[in-house]
Amino acid sequence: MHPFSYTKVSDTQDALDAGRRGGRYIAGGTTLVDLMRETVERPGTLVDISALPLRAIAVTERGGLRIGALVRMADAAAHPKVRTTYPVISQALELSASAQLRNMATIGGNIMQRTRCTYFRDVTAACNKREAGSGCAARDGFNRTHAILGASESCVATHPSDAAVAFAALEATVHLVGPGGERRVPFADFLLRPGSTPHREQSLQKGELIIAVEIPAHSRPLKSGYLKVRDRQSYEFALTSAAVALHVRGGVIREAKVAAGGVGTVPWKLPAVERHLVGERPSSALWAEAAKQAADGARPLEHNRFKVELLKRTVERQLRTVGGTK
Ligand code: SF4
Repeated sequence: MHPFSYTKVSDTQDALDAGRRGGRYIAGGTTLVDLMRETVERPGTLVDISALPLRAIAVTERGGLRIGALVRMADAAAHPKVRTTYPVISQALELSASAQLRNMATIGGNIMQRTRCTYFRDVTAACNKREAGSGCAARDGFNRTHAILGASESCVATHPSDAAVAFAALEATVHLVGPGGERRVPFADFLLRPGSTPHREQSLQKGELIIAVEIPAHSRPLKSGYLKVRDRQSYEFALTSAAVALHVRGGVIREAKVAAGGVGTVPWKLPAVERHLVGERPSSALWAEAAKQAADGARPLEHNRFKVELLKRTVERQLRTVGGTK
């Protein structure tokens, strides 16, 4: 591990001042400390923001839900309002990591976490995300867990967060504060596809801090859930996953929110699947037809072709679980 300095702040302005000077924010530290140990990350200064007052979960004036950036994953998953209003979020969180990690890691850190591409974490391997212009060892390497959607010549790594898939499906907004004040970024614009700059992963400006994630109010009743398919049943990242939320009234699907994980360089919203569902009556045939479009545009690599079919089946199964079968 490289030498670094450490400072702890309890005031947002102090945090922003330290961030503007180049300090790196740390809260739960469950990703960053690992990366520092592996010398993948070498921040000069850590700014511990864990004492900032960003731990509230509150219903917004418009009936949505605002989750503070420093709420622990376990606390968000267990919160009665999250559990009853958006079970897809609770389930995504509870299927993430381990109990110990969920007790430590925060919501803000969860969506900021970096890829689990093994070449990214191996400092002897070529990796454009870790070192711009060095190449991508995964393209011609073992790429079974990598992306089939949203990749570029520069990078094919997946985004590892489960909660981010639920946030993408529900069209959340990320609240930020920075030297220029507060701003809100739609979740779809917050995480960046790699393009030619895979080292840029979020649309954050220098020194900006996540303060909350807001889920908008959706029509009620809204049934939702998260399915994660992985090589083992705990403490493993998704090969594929599906976050589904459906509003059905009068026997007709009025709203459909669907996103996939484990397959994209960012959480992958599935608008074609959503369009196929809205206005229709739930049925097994509908779930199967809609799910056929889940992998539209997929470009599998040598070792992950299985993800194309697995993604369709994951989405179909979760549509059936949430929407019921007839
Ligand atoms: Fe690095 Fe991305 Fe290639 Fe993995 S897929 S080695 S993270 S450039």
